[in-house]
Amino acid sequence: MSRLAGFYSPRYAVPGVTPYARLADAAERLRRLGLVDFREPAPIDPARLAGLHEAAYLEAFLRGIEPLASSQGLPWSAAVRDATLSMLGGQLEAVEHALAHGLAFNLARGFHHAVPQRGSGNCALNGFALVAHLRPGLRVMVVDCDEHGGNGTEEFSTRLENLYCASIFGTRFGCIGGPRSWNFHIRSERDAAAQYREALDEVERLLRRLRPDLVLYQAGTDCHRDDPKNSVGLSTREMFRRDLRVFGMARELSLPLMFCVGGGYQAPSRIAALNANSVRAALLARRVP
Ligand SMILES: [Zn+2]
Repeated sequence: MSRLAGFYSPRYAVPGVTPYARLADAAERLRRLGLVDFREPAPIDPARLAGLHEAAYLEAFLRGIEPLASSQGLPWSAAVRDATLSMLGGQLEAVEHALAHGLAFNLARGFHHAVPQRGSGNCALNGFALVAHLRPGLRVMVVDCDEHGGNGTEEFSTRLENLYCASIFGTRFGCIGGPRSWNFHIRSERDAAAQYREALDEVERLLRRLRPDLVLYQAGTDCHRDDPKNSVGLSTREMFRRDLRVFGMARELSLPLMFCVGGGYQAPSRIAALNANSVRAALLARRVP
């Protein structure tokens, strides 16, 4: 099986800062498995962030000016800032690779809760909105399959006319829907896996109708049934099928796709195993003629 093009830097994984540190476990596991051809991206030049978030917040996050600098809910440090800038650099390099070759992976978080005015939910700078902001000529569709709704991306989609967002979640996290965003709220009281499949059917209809130039997929792992924050309750197998379905629809419609990971509050080794399954699904979907 050929390997997947992946972007990752040890700078992503800040020791002691849980949402960042666990990425190192996933990188180590994927290196051991030999599934990913890793490239190390350069951090984004902060000048490229101008105009994405509001200027006062961007300055606060770049320079450590409180309280805005820590508004994502994690104490600001230069290491957290630099990890964030590295992940966003990886996001852009992975997008360029996906546009050229069809598929790429950034072993990073997408930061879908970050809103224009501030950070939120452990997300400092929105990595999905960034792509639409820097590539106004491309119609960018985010498929967000985290336990939590992508409220930040949704809010950015009201400002960026080329940004579309479909969010399948168990926890709304402020998502209300909008002219370019669609929400699918999975209720735990009835067969969640069946609801998830129906939601993915709707996402496929949206992709067929909108025919975006690029798909950004957030392969969240906190909707797994063993995750302490989950309400959706997908099994490992159901999560693999979810991934396969998303990768399969992009392939069938010949849409370039870049994906990143999100969420995950189980032991880092279990999150790493789920991340590896997403990579397996990407490779498997690519092989299907
Ligand atoms: Zn989440």
